[in-house]
Amino acid sequence: MTLFTSKLPNTKPSIFTVMSVLAQKHGAVNLSQGFPDFPCSSELIDLVTFYMKNGDNQYAPMSGVPELRKQISQKFEKLYGITVDAKNEITVTSGATEGLYSAISAFIRPNDEVIIFEPAYDSYRPAVELNGGKIIPVKLTFPDFRIDWEATAQAISERTKMLIVNFPHNPSGSVLEQEDLEELVQLTKNTDILILSDEVYEHLVFDHHSHRPIFQHPELRKRTLAVYSFGKTFHATGWKVGYCIASKNLSKEFRKTHEFVTFSTNTPFQKAIAEHLKKPKNYLDLSSFFQKKRDHFNQILMDSRFEFLPTKSTYFQLANYRQISDEKDTDFAVRMTQEFGVAVIPISVFYTDGTDNQLIRFCFAKESGTLQMAGEKLIQI
Ligand code: PMP
Ligand code: GLN
Repeated sequence: MTLFTSKLPNTKPSIFTVMSVLAQKHGAVNLSQGFPDFPCSSELIDLVTFYMKNGDNQYAPMSGVPELRKQISQKFEKLYGITVDAKNEITVTSGATEGLYSAISAFIRPNDEVIIFEPAYDSYRPAVELNGGKIIPVKLTFPDFRIDWEATAQAISERTKMLIVNFPHNPSGSVLEQEDLEELVQLTKNTDILILSDEVYEHLVFDHHSHRPIFQHPELRKRTLAVYSFGKTFHATGWKVGYCIASKNLSKEFRKTHEFVTFSTNTPFQKAIAEHLKKPKNYLDLSSFFQKKRDHFNQILMDSRFEFLPTKSTYFQLANYRQISDEKDTDFAVRMTQEFGVAVIPISVFYTDGTDNQLIRFCFAKESGTLQMAGEKLIQI
């Protein structure tokens, strides 16, 4: 007797898990999974400790600690000039991953179509499929990783229920331009297509580029759920605290799922983050901090045989290795870890059809010493 039929028969352990485990096994410098190897602010840790010792250890309200929602709303207003109602339009989630899942689960029914842009972050597909939805992949342009609006228009059908966009974009570091926002408006106005906007890298944008929240556009605002992550903003990916911003109407429905996925997110971390957000420097300095790391890493590898693609945002750097090998990117990534001692992420795994542009992704959210050590290995290749 078969006990069950898998709801996700094609889902394997994520590439981030696979590469991090491989890095550990071979003692390689781990530039694969995206997490900082430096500590988060000790002030923030002291705040968490304070609230734990203060007895703030019981359930938080389902939609989040009020003070945190207030601080998020003030940050949004200050940064983007957008007023969001802290009470009805912000929900604190257990990381952006829970926000994404709850948003998808709240609105996607069997046979609904969801458009994703590839290379796409790996958590969208399983969340859609668990809810009976169908993924319709559209490729971003290459090598700029912008949305191909013509292809997107063609992918839309009467079954399209949601578009999932992710800018600043993981893994390419591309950003959304003003004309993209206008295209998105044209494409979705007079429809009931929802937009799920994954903006976890909002504070990591470099040079003259800027982040454009989808919420900024009044036409898009009513149909958008946007998710964010304090894991990225405060160098604490293990804390799993994020939030979702959506209209009152959408938030009300979103919360019905959030309530039964997790009920609420841990209390002392929410209180500590609320306090930490009172100093805008704590998030405004991030861009220059990571831009320096990007530039340092680029400089170390200037004489290597890797060719870097421009990174406008995030803490990832794409590179092609055509001058080194014509192997498949998945094979090359494994060999880099095993033979050359640096773990990276192959990009083809983020495409439904396995498109292989011979690209690998480095995470540069690392101490200078780590980048230097990786660099010494990489320039030998
Ligand atoms: N979206 C993207 C694009 C990501 O890179 C990540 C990885 N952290 C997430 C969502 C998940 O964020 P969290 O760790 O807060 O769940
Ligand atoms: N977001 C991280 C990355 O892109 C990984 C998160 C995870 O391991 N689930 O590397």
